[in-house]
Amino acid sequence: MEECIFCRIAAGEIPCRKVYEDDSVLAFDDIQPMAPVHVLIIPKVHVATVMDVDAARMANLAAMMEAAQKVAILKGVEQSGFRLVINCHREGGQVIFHLHMHLLGGQQLRNALN
Ligand code: 5GP
Ligand code: ZN
Repeated sequence: MEECIFCRIAAGEIPCRKVYEDDSVLAFDDIQPMAPVHVLIIPKVHVATVMDVDAARMANLAAMMEAAQKVAILKGVEQSGFRLVINCHREGGQVIFHLHMHLLGGQQLRNALN
């Protein structure tokens, strides 16, 4: 998966502003933030989309959720609130085909989802 940008970030080949890391998950600031807090949470193993999360990979998704709670605390938005988003395929707006969760916060987010 040498051509996958998020695999390369997970491998340390491309720098990122790391927010949190454990054995299975990496979280880092989005390079083009859409809100004052905009963190991407990825599994270290390559999973292309949320449609590729089968029973065996469900632990990766659980680890991403656990990491999201930790990132929310680290960024100080656990009380004010935040939004978790996973885009899937073209109409969902997925651009990078390595599973990732956006954590957005630090301002009042609008209700519009498009
Ligand atoms: P998607 O649209 O696939 O859900 O989101 C991809 C996200 O990855 C975008 O918000 C984009 O700004 C971010 N991104 C793309 N390339 C890089 C990069 O090299 N470093 C970081 N930190 N974020 C990236
Ligand atoms: Zn990848």
